[in-house]
Amino acid sequence: MTGRLVVCPTPIGNLEDVTLRVLAALREADVVACEDTRRTRVLLDRYGVKGHLVSYHEHNERARARELVKRMLGGAVVALVSDAGTPLVSDPGFVLVRECVAAGLAVEVLPGPSAALSALVASALPADRWTFAGFLPRKRAELERTLSGPDTLVAFESPRRVGATLAVLAELDPERPVVVARELTKVHEEVVRGSAAELAGRYASEAPRGEIVLVVGGAPGGAGSDATGPALDALRRLVDAGAKPRAAAGVVAELTGVPANALYKALTSGS
Ligand code: SAM
Repeated sequence: MTGRLVVCPTPIGNLEDVTLRVLAALREADVVACEDTRRTRVLLDRYGVKGHLVSYHEHNERARARELVKRMLGGAVVALVSDAGTPLVSDPGFVLVRECVAAGLAVEVLPGPSAALSALVASALPADRWTFAGFLPRKRAELERTLSGPDTLVAFESPRRVGATLAVLAELDPERPVVVARELTKVHEEVVRGSAAELAGRYASEAPRGEIVLVVGGAPGGAGSDATGPALDALRRLVDAGAKPRAAAGVVAELTGVPANALYKALTSGS
């Protein structure tokens, strides 16, 4: 049997949110690469999985990835987990997946929990087009740009910064719908929906506790309409002047915060 990587999402709070396939993969793997061996051991113990654990985190990612690829080329099956949710989604794993692909190894990705998707679905905001920002930027200008895209925005945020971030959003656009999804799947799970002004007020003096995902409605206008309009105009002018459409869309996206894909699509569909 040839070696391969199996990416295994794990619960984001409730230990029962682990799939049968993930448990089988963890049981069958020769090595389980995990961020924090103590934390992963809790999950494995709960299900009576022994598992040979090795640490794989942001500080040893490169060296460990090389080692693991070598083992997989020798026939080992490696399961990759992070502390919670889906590896690579603001978690370690990218280097390992990329090295596996480069080495011609199979990468199997099992479906499972991710706080980003749960929050998006719970938000009741449009989920047909959305942007994931990871952890929100701290610099004000960058934050404003990130909050000004036309699609629903999903972002991780520290509870200490939620009030300040919502205050910035409320200044930009007090009516913008926003959702604070807190402690998903845990005892104190809470999904608070309101306008930016309402929620900025609510969290101004008291930070929410626990883990938070912010979901923000798209900036007024949406893709292909007013918000995209000036950016699209600029893109058209660059392309008319001879710039390559994809590269130009990337540059305009960086300057305006309108996603490059939306601009490129609007350009090529002629809207
Ligand atoms: N890879 C993980 C995933 O797929 O969900 C995300 C890892 S990231 C390092 C951790 C951030 O995810 C937290 O700071 C918080 O913003 C969000 N998060 C994780 N678990 C959560 C939960 N149960 N409820 C709300 N947000 C959560």
